Amino acid sequence: MPVRQWDPASKAKVVLEGLQGKPETAICKRHRIKPAEYRRWRKQFLAQIARSYQSPSRQSTDTSAVVPGPPRGEDESSKALRVAHEMIEVLPIPVYFKARDGKHLGANKAWEAYFGVERESFIGKTVQELFSHTPEVAAKHQAADEDLWRSPGTRSYELQVPVHDGSIRHTLNYKATFAGADGKVAGLIGTIIDITERKRAEQRQAIEHRVTRLLSECETVAAAMPGVLAAFCESLGWACGTRWSMDSKAAGFRCEEAWSIDDSEIAAFLAASRESTYQPGQAGLVRRVLGTGQPVWIVDIAAEESFLRGKQAAKAGLRSAFALPIRLGEQVLGALEFFHRDERLPDEWLLNTGVAIGSQVGHFMARKQAEGELRRSEARFRSLTALSSDWYWEQDEQFRLTFMSSRFVERTGIDPAPYLGRKRWDRPALNLTESDWERHRAQLERHEPFFDFEMERASPDADSVWLSVSGEPVFDEDLRFRGYRGVGTDITERKRAQGVLRAAYDELARSNAELQQFAYVASHDLQEPLRMIGSYTQLLERRYGDKLDRDAHEFMDFIVDGATRMKQLIEDLLAYSRVGTRGKELRPVQAQAILERVLINLRGAVEQSGAAITYGPLPEVSADDTQLAQLLQNLIANAIKFRKKDEAPRIHVGAEDAGDEWRFAVADNGIGIEPQYFDRIFMVFQRLHTQDEYPGTGIGLAICRKVVERHRGRIWVESAYGKGSTFRFTLPKIQKGET
Ligand code: ADP
Repeated sequence: MPVRQWDPASKAKVVLEGLQGKPETAICKRHRIKPAEYRRWRKQFLAQIARSYQSPSRQSTDTSAVVPGPPRGEDESSKALRVAHEMIEVLPIPVYFKARDGKHLGANKAWEAYFGVERESFIGKTVQELFSHTPEVAAKHQAADEDLWRSPGTRSYELQVPVHDGSIRHTLNYKATFAGADGKVAGLIGTIIDITERKRAEQRQAIEHRVTRLLSECETVAAAMPGVLAAFCESLGWACGTRWSMDSKAAGFRCEEAWSIDDSEIAAFLAASRESTYQPGQAGLVRRVLGTGQPVWIVDIAAEESFLRGKQAAKAGLRSAFALPIRLGEQVLGALEFFHRDERLPDEWLLNTGVAIGSQVGHFMARKQAEGELRRSEARFRSLTALSSDWYWEQDEQFRLTFMSSRFVERTGIDPAPYLGRKRWDRPALNLTESDWERHRAQLERHEPFFDFEMERASPDADSVWLSVSGEPVFDEDLRFRGYRGVGTDITERKRAQGVLRAAYDELARSNAELQQFAYVASHDLQEPLRMIGSYTQLLERRYGDKLDRDAHEFMDFIVDGATRMKQLIEDLLAYSRVGTRGKELRPVQAQAILERVLINLRGAVEQSGAAITYGPLPEVSADDTQLAQLLQNLIANAIKFRKKDEAPRIHVGAEDAGDEWRFAVADNGIGIEPQYFDRIFMVFQRLHTQDEYPGTGIGLAICRKVVERHRGRIWVESAYGKGSTFRFTLPKIQKGET
């Protein structure tokens, strides 16, 4: 690689890079030169430049006096000097020179523009005069200079300084001493690099980080705000800040929280601020912000008459103020307000920083509000579910149990810990198979609600516990699935009771079947010996009738009578047992047609008794036609049989619509029944009269009840003793689709 030729202009450029704050190592690396060489160039450059400022020629009337012209006659060194001068003059950063006594020797154009000071008139003046309104800034520069005089070389430091428009800028000041002809320190060259933008970006980032952390750590806006206000004020040098909130009920706004530097006057001002409620308007500070939704800046509080708290603020030593809305989208939730002790001109960056914080606070407020509402609705949900169930649970989107209300352990005695963080099917249930779980899981994956999912879980202090859980899927406002929530109930008792009930039912069904079998077998098998009694009695009569005396004949009549009655009883019992065993399938049948058939069967009895039988329209019902005929026949026959001695029977058969069922009635004007027998008469062989009064076996109504119950209906009697009875029974209506 060819060695680069360093002409004076290039050398000057390299040195100027250093004067603009670039680190020495970076410069050397970039230009591939040794640090020693760089320092030599800088020394030469500064010596040349400085000497020209000190030369008597600069006292001339030449307009370029502040940046002296090159000496006459262009030799190598004077050419370098000219280049250096030109470069400094056009450099976009302020450059200035000072003599050992602190007096300004000159400066470039950028310096002139930066401070708004005419450079020519400033020659011979000091830094105290440049910063006459901010002596603390002058003092800092002065101290840096003193340090340089004591140990010459280079220095850099940051400082905030006021500039031409009164605004405060962050500067990086770079200074290097130069030597005079005698080799002693003769003065310094200074450059100013404006690092305001970088500083502001850093500051804003720092403030926003601090605010973000505060908001994430605090539960409420009230807890977070003092820290948030402090983050802004402390970082930017403002004296105090407050948050104002709209109070919807009072339709005004109030100061909610405040932060200030340690100052009793300011504290008193803030305390006073918090006492009143204000109305939004077109004047003042916060009033105007909340009235217009726009930020407001007051440079001098004392001069702003519409600012109601202005006098108090001025008394507390506050000078400038600004306020901005706390927004959430278009909605204004409140305002932030800040005060400074010095005069501060409207600063867009500062306002933007405030607005950014305002929006962070706005989001926080909205989130807290939403969380509060969610909590309230959750609490409502939980307390409601507590009424209808034992406990409440939640599952995440992976179906892992994330919450179990305390009543779970209270009710079941099961520790929920092993279940939390796990899926329902991660722990065994005694009643469920792999495929049961698979079905349940598939249902959850479809995000469907589920009801009464029953699980038998092992329990430490009982054999097992039966749980029934129901759940519904939960979706967030973006309709994303977030899990399930639901309730659970301990159904162990119910399950045990169900078990006992089932056992009792099974037992009943078994004994019923046995009884049926017994009744059938008994009645069937008893007929044979009975027939034998009957036929041998007749044989006895035929063969030995003439040999027997009257008494024997009477006894034989008793035997035949008993046998006949027993035959009737057995036949009735057989008929009764057949209601259950020989029943036909239920089909839609016309009750009226059946009744008419029954009346034909009963024609003899009707004629003999002179009964008048009427009937209303009867519906179509689902029934076993033979059994329905038997039912109607028994009831009508009874109505004829149990008639009054002196009155012909009047009987009416009707049916009425009773919702899901038909209610039939067979009403008579007979002897009636006393209420204490209303139930008894439906039992097998229960009768209220002797054979002589009214013949019968007492099985007719038992058969009626059995028939009605087989048809899923009920039967009962209503009666006024001596006036008549009405037997009612119900039959279910025909279901749709039943033909
Ligand atoms: P039975 O007619 O063979 O006596 P039921 O079972 O048919 O047997 O009737 C039982 C009893 O109920 C009858 O003995 C009678 O006392 C009473 N009973 C039944 N129907 C009527 C009725 N329509 N009026 C008055 N009493 C009745």
